[in-house]
Amino acid sequence: MKAGPFNPVRKRLFIGLLSASLLGAGLFLTAIWYIAANPTQSIFDQLLLLALGTLLVGGIVVAGFGVGGIVLTILYARDISALRGPMRVAVNIFFPLALALGRFFHIDRDRIKKSFIEVNNFLVKSKALKLLPKQILLLAPHCLQKSDCPYKITVNMDNCHRCGGCVVSELLDLRDKYGINMGMATGGTLARKFVQEYHPRGIVAIACERDLTSGIQDSNPIPVLGLTNERPFGPCFNTRVKVPKVEEAICFFIREKGSLAI
Ligand code: SF4
Repeated sequence: MKAGPFNPVRKRLFIGLLSASLLGAGLFLTAIWYIAANPTQSIFDQLLLLALGTLLVGGIVVAGFGVGGIVLTILYARDISALRGPMRVAVNIFFPLALALGRFFHIDRDRIKKSFIEVNNFLVKSKALKLLPKQILLLAPHCLQKSDCPYKITVNMDNCHRCGGCVVSELLDLRDKYGINMGMATGGTLARKFVQEYHPRGIVAIACERDLTSGIQDSNPIPVLGLTNERPFGPCFNTRVKVPKVEEAICFFIREKGSLAI
């Protein structure tokens, strides 16, 4: 199945930073090798440096395959199952390094995280998944609820009176239409609780870049399609999401419609 429209610009940022992180790790490895080869080092120090160097070589080789796998997946829009493990290593272990490198080059963190989310979505979309509705969890942030709504919906979403004052009513309509599970999380702890409760095999998550990034990594290996919320009034307050995009993501997992364009 085709994995959606190709948007190389956003993905390129994350892949570029991943590759640069690999290069940095390679340079660090060369420095370790240079120091270890210095005859003034004691045998103990040399052995220690060699052990560190060996670990680093392993990490670099695996992550190198992982970055190659990501690039090939994006180019050919299909899942390369043999490289799933290395891709996971590349994304999860080298992601903090990519962020640090981005900070060094004064690249906005949210831009890098957006790029990461886009790469993640593409990798998820390249998989041949077909899930039952009950295997899907829609995770929404509490800040989508209108701030002056008097109903407490975090414990029970059905407390929403579906007045249409915010998107919660439309998300509940989607939940009912497709028969999927849904949770409204006030933070990572509650989101993890929903994942433990429903044991989903696919997650559609709505959140800001920061929460999505950590959520995608926490949920690994469960595939997560991430949708960033809109924040016209600033962070965590009366946020919004494009409901058709949420529906497209649900439909991707159950293969009810065409491919996803998120
Ligand atoms: S749709 Fe209405 S009742 Fe439901 S959470 Fe939003 S404002 Fe409250």
